[in-house]
Amino acid sequence: MNIGIDLGGSHIGVALIENGKILTKREEDIEKNTKDIKKLIIEKICKYISQILSEKEITLEDIGTLGISSPGVAKDGNIYNIVNLGIDEFKITEMLNKKINYKNIKIMNDAKCAAIAEFNYGCMKNFEDGIFLTLGTGIGGAAFIKNTLIQSKNYPGTEFGHMVICKNGKECKCGNRGCFEKYCSMKALKEEVKEQYKLKEDVTSKEIIDLIKNDIKNEKMSKIIDNYIEYLAIGIVNLVNIFEPEVIGIGGSAVYIKEILIKRLKREIITNNILFNKRDDINIQIATLGNDAGMIGAASL
Ligand SMILES: [Zn+2]
Repeated sequence: MNIGIDLGGSHIGVALIENGKILTKREEDIEKNTKDIKKLIIEKICKYISQILSEKEITLEDIGTLGISSPGVAKDGNIYNIVNLGIDEFKITEMLNKKINYKNIKIMNDAKCAAIAEFNYGCMKNFEDGIFLTLGTGIGGAAFIKNTLIQSKNYPGTEFGHMVICKNGKECKCGNRGCFEKYCSMKALKEEVKEQYKLKEDVTSKEIIDLIKNDIKNEKMSKIIDNYIEYLAIGIVNLVNIFEPEVIGIGGSAVYIKEILIKRLKREIITNNILFNKRDDINIQIATLGNDAGMIGAASL
């Protein structure tokens, strides 16, 4: 049994997991305006772990790994640059160790944790070679070749979102221009819809998603989506040419418009004949584990 912790931009989840199945879990929103947010997160994690252990009548000695899925960059047991929580540096391993005295703590970026979960237990579970893209606020990703996650020594790598797909394109927070995520994250799509439909500043994500679904037959929306898919295809074709995956998994909030996305995307990639190795079909799958993917992936680190 392992423990998987999902540290989200606005919530925290802790689950006891065995072979990809959640045995029990606790979840709660994080109050972002707390004075010491790191202390609050550590306290919540410890409280949930102790609740879960006593519910199942086990101890930390029964736990193989304690994995943490987090936004930002994970390195040497610390997490850096968690933008949504306003945290620059979080020595989470050291702080947890002091409280619970448990040594086998592992941390990985949330997009990679979701990818690991989907690869092992979700939409890519029957394949050996796959790439996974999280289309959300940004674009995160991971690649698996012969059942192994590609990772280099110094940095996690596979930052698909910052692959340049447009020379002198839109400015990205990474300092470069024309990055994939500036065109193909769900945030980019939603902003485009918001602008073209002149929506109110406080429109919710759900309202935009509903508008996309309800208005897809309208020429204006159809053009927005076609344009979005054109860029998405460029990025995915680059990745397919590099990794030659058997399957491409797509997660993040893009799952809410899967009916609109997948058929058009396949058509764009296949019929425009833009792949290096030509084929009649391409296997694109939508993530199946939903919000549990982070915890499940973290527990299998
Ligand atoms: Zn970038």
